[in-house]
Amino acid sequence: MARAWHLKSRPSGMPTDENFELKDIDLPQLGDGMVRVRNRWLSVDPYMRGRMNDVKSYVPPFQIGEPLEGGAVGEVVESKADGLAPGDLVLHMSGWRDEAVVPARGVNKLPDLGVEPQKFLGVLGVTGATAFFGLLDVASAKPGDIVFVSAAAGAVGSVVVQLAKAKGMTAVGSAGGADKCDFVRSLGADQVVDYRAGPVLKSLAAAAPDGIDVYFDNVGGDHLDAAFALARNNARFAMCGMIAGYNDPNPASFRFIMRIVAARIRLKGFIVFDFQSRMDEFYREMGQLVASGAVKAQETVVEGLENTPDAFLGLFQGANTGKMLVKL
Ligand code: NDP
Repeated sequence: MARAWHLKSRPSGMPTDENFELKDIDLPQLGDGMVRVRNRWLSVDPYMRGRMNDVKSYVPPFQIGEPLEGGAVGEVVESKADGLAPGDLVLHMSGWRDEAVVPARGVNKLPDLGVEPQKFLGVLGVTGATAFFGLLDVASAKPGDIVFVSAAAGAVGSVVVQLAKAKGMTAVGSAGGADKCDFVRSLGADQVVDYRAGPVLKSLAAAAPDGIDVYFDNVGGDHLDAAFALARNNARFAMCGMIAGYNDPNPASFRFIMRIVAARIRLKGFIVFDFQSRMDEFYREMGQLVASGAVKAQETVVEGLENTPDAFLGLFQGANTGKMLVKL
């Protein structure tokens, strides 16, 4: 018997506890090529909010009455699969539960990089790879660029700030509140924007008086509009996410959108899985940066499977600094 969080109903606007239900589930018999995994760490991520809606996207929606899914790191406790043995630590997508039986092809043994296992859900996982490929490939950021990144105290944003500094760029990060801005500064950011203290446009104009070459968008809304306003000619925008709109049924409008034309801004959306085939390159470079201390991995840890929805909902209230994780 295992316990798994299920989608009880679809939210409209901000989800509530009512949308989730923790239920006992029977695990299937362990067939050939399968492993039983006891989860140790669960990832909660903003994109899961989109999966709670019944809409077509790059990942299918969660189904009412069915278990939720998400990234997880667990320990193999039983195996009928070649190459996987009890005790192996693995990364897989059967999160939001304590135990799972999964096919070996859906499981990746953690690379031996000498770091704690939960790092593969954060700085050395999806969020780190999003920062790495989004900044260096999608935005083609290069030394000397002035880089603005929103949600800079979060999982992706905090890595963007550190990578920008490690690569010789100027980093301007926005976050909500003085404590988070101090944290962003501690990561090496040259300037910070506290979007809760006043209009983003005004603060960004003061923080980047010469404008910006790159915008790494995690937030959308007023942050994106401010970035349009302050973009230098030929600026590159990596369109990563727009969390400000995930629970908002009325999409933002943009006062400065015509700047795309005048400043020849290049906007490119991306999904981190586009870079799946380049994960070796990511592990090599990011593994070194993490091991040397050049990139630090801040985490906010919520304990206990029963608190997983709270951890998830906390993402939309700024409850996390760095990667939000659930420890089982
Ligand atoms: P974070 O760790 O950054 O957590 C979310 C943070 O967003 C919060 O801590 C909060 O920080 C900030 N936030 C929440 N609501 C708002 C709001 N209304 N306005 C401004 N800021 C807000 O999450 P991730 O790093 O995992 O994700 C960051 C972004 O990247 C998301 O948009 C996500 O969807 C996207 N993403 C995209 C991927 C891709 O492949 N394209 C892959 C992974 C993530 P604060 O306290 O500062 O407000």
